[in-house]
Amino acid sequence: MDKDDFKRWSRRAADWGADYRASLGERPVRAQTRPGDIAAEIALSPPEDGEAMEAIFADFERIIVPGMTHWQHPRFFAYFPANAAPVSVVAEYLVSAMAAQCMLWQTSPAATELETCVIDWMRQALGLPEGFSGVIQDSASSATLAAVLTMRERALGWTGNKQGLAGQNAVRVYASSQVHTSIDRAIWISGVGEANLVRIPVTGSLYGMDPAVLEARIVEDKAAGFLPAGVIACTGGTSIGACDPIGEVAAIAQRHDLYLHVDAAWAGSAMICPDYRTLWTGIEAADSIVFNPHKWLGAQFDCSIQFLRRPEDQVRTLAIQPEYLKTHGADGILNYSEWTVPLGRRFRALKLWFLLRHYGLTGLRAIIANHVTWAESLARRLGAEADFELVSQPILSLFSFRHTGGADSDAHNIALVNAINADGRIYLTQTRVDGRIAIRFQAGSFDTTEADIDMAFAVITEIARRL
Ligand code: PLP
Repeated sequence: MDKDDFKRWSRRAADWGADYRASLGERPVRAQTRPGDIAAEIALSPPEDGEAMEAIFADFERIIVPGMTHWQHPRFFAYFPANAAPVSVVAEYLVSAMAAQCMLWQTSPAATELETCVIDWMRQALGLPEGFSGVIQDSASSATLAAVLTMRERALGWTGNKQGLAGQNAVRVYASSQVHTSIDRAIWISGVGEANLVRIPVTGSLYGMDPAVLEARIVEDKAAGFLPAGVIACTGGTSIGACDPIGEVAAIAQRHDLYLHVDAAWAGSAMICPDYRTLWTGIEAADSIVFNPHKWLGAQFDCSIQFLRRPEDQVRTLAIQPEYLKTHGADGILNYSEWTVPLGRRFRALKLWFLLRHYGLTGLRAIIANHVTWAESLARRLGAEADFELVSQPILSLFSFRHTGGADSDAHNIALVNAINADGRIYLTQTRVDGRIAIRFQAGSFDTTEADIDMAFAVITEIARRL
């Protein structure tokens, strides 16, 4: 592709993207394809000779787009959002064009220095005290893995990486039953092992871990010869938005010299609104906090920030400095690849910088506060219907409900979610609460309006009563 063609196709892609976004409201939210439909359209072998871009682009529109679920759709109420505000898409175009690998300061000084600056902007935006620094990772899963490795090494006196875990006292980590499965995976990969992830039961309207049980388990484990290493708390669990009592958990962690990692992958974005910060009171005592601007804040996937109180612990756990990665004579600079598991790094700070400057915190707060208000009002409306019940009350913009009219069964509620998603006007997912199926609703798309919430009410009630 020569320079002129590159320009032409870049413009065509940008035009396509803008038209696509404008047309989302008319498309079904979830892809309406069956397994294998798309693969059946793709050639079985790669072409020997290059093809014309017209043909490639035409196939993109014909084959790929109909097989996409539209995450930027205004009526995407499933999972959690993965917003990509247009301004962050523009930044990503630029990042794609420059295509820098930003592993070290010297491999792109601007990427490293902007990352340091926007992380401090986000620290201030979230109301975190000075003293936290951080790093942008690809995902909360990677940040949590880094935190678990760090708590493991810290507890083992920095011997795990060198000697392995055999012959060491078993390391223990504590988390509630409401944390995301990325915690389980970090526990597996780190060698801590699932048997040493101690589940603490939850209590109260925020489904937070019971601090008394947490402390009792730590004390018991110490007496039994285990090595308690850390606690993983959540602010805004995936299923129903569970929030652990961070202050109380932090006090226990400090008393027992445990590392505290807080997973606020979704809810962290809402902490730009001071009113919601009561959900993580005490957060300043955490050692590590992860939140995903690529979820609710509008930064195109992927963009996950891990804040750290003592980054040197994580660097001591993860940094490898072979000769070919040493940056001689540049002491005092940051090489963010030493803070993370992957070495290679995309330039993720640019989209956050564009995003924060374009909306300002006031603009972003208004979007998030609307989502919370609208989710609360939909929960009230559904809860007032005789044949619906709220299973979990709204925590920020997430709540869950069941249809109790007709067959009040798990099978009926699964059938309801499936029927709603096949209808295509809105997209929802289900979860399990106290052993029973509940339907989740979260409002978080940047393009959602109150009319979309009204449509959600109409679609849910209409289809439930028709089933
Ligand atoms: N933590 C929570 C609370 C989540 O909801 C999710 C994903 O939805 C994750 C962690 C994992 O996020 P990521 O996809 O960035 O690894």
